[in-house]
Amino acid sequence: MNKRTEFVNLEKLSEIIIETIKEMSTVHQQALTAPALGRALAGRKGFAELLRWTSQSSYRDLGPTPIKTLKREPAKPSPMEAAQDGEVPGTRSPLVVHTRKLRDFRFQLLNESLDNLTREHLDRASDLRENIRTCEDPERLIEMNEEILSLLQLAFRNVGGEIAQFTHLVEAIGKNLLAMEADILSTSSTTRETFHQNSEFNNLVESDVREIRESIQLSRNLRDFQQFLLGKLDGIRLSIERKRQHDAMLLSKAQQEIDGLKNNLHEMQRELSRVQTEAQSLEKEVLLDPLTGIHNRRAYEKRLLEEFAHYKSLGHCFSMLMIDIDHFKRVNDQYGHRAGDRCLQEFTKLVKHILRGADFLARYGGEEFVVILPGTDAKGVGIVSEKIRHLVEKARFTIRDKSIPITVSIGGSHARPEDTNTESIFNRVDTALYKAKQTGRNRVVLL
Ligand code: GH3
Ligand code: MG
Ligand code: MG
Repeated sequence: MNKRTEFVNLEKLSEIIIETIKEMSTVHQQALTAPALGRALAGRKGFAELLRWTSQSSYRDLGPTPIKTLKREPAKPSPMEAAQDGEVPGTRSPLVVHTRKLRDFRFQLLNESLDNLTREHLDRASDLRENIRTCEDPERLIEMNEEILSLLQLAFRNVGGEIAQFTHLVEAIGKNLLAMEADILSTSSTTRETFHQNSEFNNLVESDVREIRESIQLSRNLRDFQQFLLGKLDGIRLSIERKRQHDAMLLSKAQQEIDGLKNNLHEMQRELSRVQTEAQSLEKEVLLDPLTGIHNRRAYEKRLLEEFAHYKSLGHCFSMLMIDIDHFKRVNDQYGHRAGDRCLQEFTKLVKHILRGADFLARYGGEEFVVILPGTDAKGVGIVSEKIRHLVEKARFTIRDKSIPITVSIGGSHARPEDTNTESIFNRVDTALYKAKQTGRNRVVLL
């Protein structure tokens, strides 16, 4: 095997070793131990063959590597090399060239670690580089492998540690953003449109966070990754700000709509209360007699039906009276219509005064009145009727200093089991009143 082939093989071996170390440290984040490195190298394509060659050759070190780009410091020629170079270019001895290759490879390995070394370890790296630069002895250069590997291990451990930290940071940021978004969704997503926009925002943030995660795994250079991360975070911040502004706009719009609805509601409440008051007064008008203030005929008919239903379903007895003022036409004729009105009002007050709270008094029409007496039987209705007739007769209706005598005729009856409707009761009462009139007025007839 000639020297040229040897160098090419050594270059390949170097490349494989550098790549393996990088992958172990950054992609897989493995500890850089000799057995682990050995295992990783054993799995590399072509490594076994190169290794076989290495064991056959006189080289026991890691071999030289082509210098494509030296990151920091290209290898300076040693004093011995400078002398050789200066004397006859292109005529350097194989030992000098080999020593130089060994040095370059070690420089390259060291430079790989510089970006990621902490300040305390940078001094170590600087000393080591000086030792490599001035070393003329290949054996001594090979002995430096241990120190170079140890620095590489420190550097990549830092990278691994920092990337792990960034991973946690990004995960925390991502989780916070998504949690914040979930809050926004739960409080403000009321419309289909808002929900759609929130989903879009969610996807945007999730995709940014995903990209950051991927970038952590792919990035070997911490600075590049930091730049990428800052750019992404700015993007996320911008998205949040845009979304916040949009939500604020939606909120203000919704608030305006709520205010409008509230105003409508207040207006409707005012209208409802006005209508209720109106309805109440209409109900009064419908059921009350305007002259006397007592119930009118409509109210009486409603009440009679209710009382009859109670009688039929529960057996509660009741009685009914019809009162007609005698010769009232004469009152009008003698004292005037207005005096007649006053008489009707005073008469109402008197009868109300005689009746109990549960009794029901209504003006049936003109000078005719009806009384419903709940819980009053045949005997009771006679007593009440006579009491009314008697007190009206005794009463003095004084209108404008004039005393107007009034009498009433009363017909009365009580509900009976054979009554199938209110009409039969009413007919009996009406007939009784007619009889009272026919038999001389100012009297009570019960049927
Ligand atoms: P009777 O004894 O037969 O009942 O004689 P009466 O005059 O009372 O009966 P009639 O039916 O002939 O006349 C009823 C009168 O009642 C006629 C009407 O002028 C009077 N009247 C009816 N409603 C009112 C009212 O609201 N105010 C006044 N002032 N008078 C009324
Ligand atoms: Mg009458
Ligand atoms: Mg009359």
